[in-house]
Amino acid sequence: MSVIIFLENTGGKLKKSAFETLTYGYKTAQELQTNCIAVTIGDCSSQQETVAKYGAEKLICIDNSLLDCDNQSTSEAISQVYKKENGVALVLSNSSYGKPIGPKIAVQCQASFISNVIEVPSSLKVRKKSFSGKAFEYAQSQLENVVYAISPNSFYVEENPGSISSETFTASNIGESSVKLINLEKSVGKVSLAEAEVVISAGRGLKGPENWHMVEELADLLNAGTACSKPVSDIGWRPHSEHVGQTGVAIAPNLYIAIGISGAIQHLAGVNSSKVMVAVNIDPEAPFFKAADYGIIGDAFEVVPRIIDSLKKFKENN
Ligand SMILES: Cc1cc2nc3c(=O)[nH]c(=O)nc-3n(C[C@H](O)[C@H](O)[C@H](O)COP(=O)(O)OP(=O)(O)OC[C@H]3O[C@@H](n4cnc5c(N)ncnc54)[C@H](O)[C@@H]3O)c2cc1C
Repeated sequence: MSVIIFLENTGGKLKKSAFETLTYGYKTAQELQTNCIAVTIGDCSSQQETVAKYGAEKLICIDNSLLDCDNQSTSEAISQVYKKENGVALVLSNSSYGKPIGPKIAVQCQASFISNVIEVPSSLKVRKKSFSGKAFEYAQSQLENVVYAISPNSFYVEENPGSISSETFTASNIGESSVKLINLEKSVGKVSLAEAEVVISAGRGLKGPENWHMVEELADLLNAGTACSKPVSDIGWRPHSEHVGQTGVAIAPNLYIAIGISGAIQHLAGVNSSKVMVAVNIDPEAPFFKAADYGIIGDAFEVVPRIIDSLKKFKENN
């Protein structure tokens, strides 16, 4: 019996979420008094030493040359590893990558599926977010096998160094995918929103797309991702990939700075898992101030350039 941890990677480099799943998987294995095995897609053998620092005993790289690398073939291949390694629990990120494959793996492995998990199981019970983070639930698998999809940025990454082996796995009898990927258009942001530690977001209060230069400048200074409210992407001021909220991307950075965003419930639903939220708004009654940790009441066109100047001075002197 092993806990199987699925690690997401980009071009062979582990994503930030991979370290969170490793930490979670290791702790779950301890709770279940078993070992943990990491699995990823493609050749990640160069990551073996890195993975060893987080307590996995084995790294399995699934040969992707035979996979379509869509949800269907990816989940089938991971399920095969799960069964081969006699898995008892599978841990993956509740990310846009993990969300569609988690339930498929659960069906293929006759496991239950628990999403949005934010705590390591204790006596088999886990705490999870619900209602867009407005409430918490405790859940327990009624089956022997379980897939945990953990909420991004909910765990501090911890090292647990040990020795590790690695192997390549070739999946067999992968059925033909029912959906064919025709084209992939990557969003052009410098920092991926899902991975960003800091996100600078702006709304209709910025009046027009020509004013986004200050958002981008602030984001550059803080090595941050850029985001926006729904109406901003609907009008076409910013790409849809930047739209955060209930109907957009859900994010959980360490710092979220919202400029000229009212703080509607649908917007907050996608950002209120951020560790620290700062709102800049000209209206002292803006709902965002009730949710934010820090609020700056003021005109964005005065406040943001001042923050930029202060940051530049700070960087020059440090
Ligand atoms: C089913 C549904 C789903 C939705 N999903 C989403 C979603 O996923 N994400 C999302 O964002 N919205 C979503 N919405 C829309 C949401 O309800 C709000 O309408 C939207 O978030 C408002 O965007 P905003 O704050 O940019 O604009 P506004 O509501 O127009 O607010 C602009 C803010 O800027 C401030 N402001 C104006 N001038 C300045 C200035 N010079 N300096 C500083 N502040 C200034 C104003 O005081 C105001 O608070 C959804 C709505 C529905 C019905």
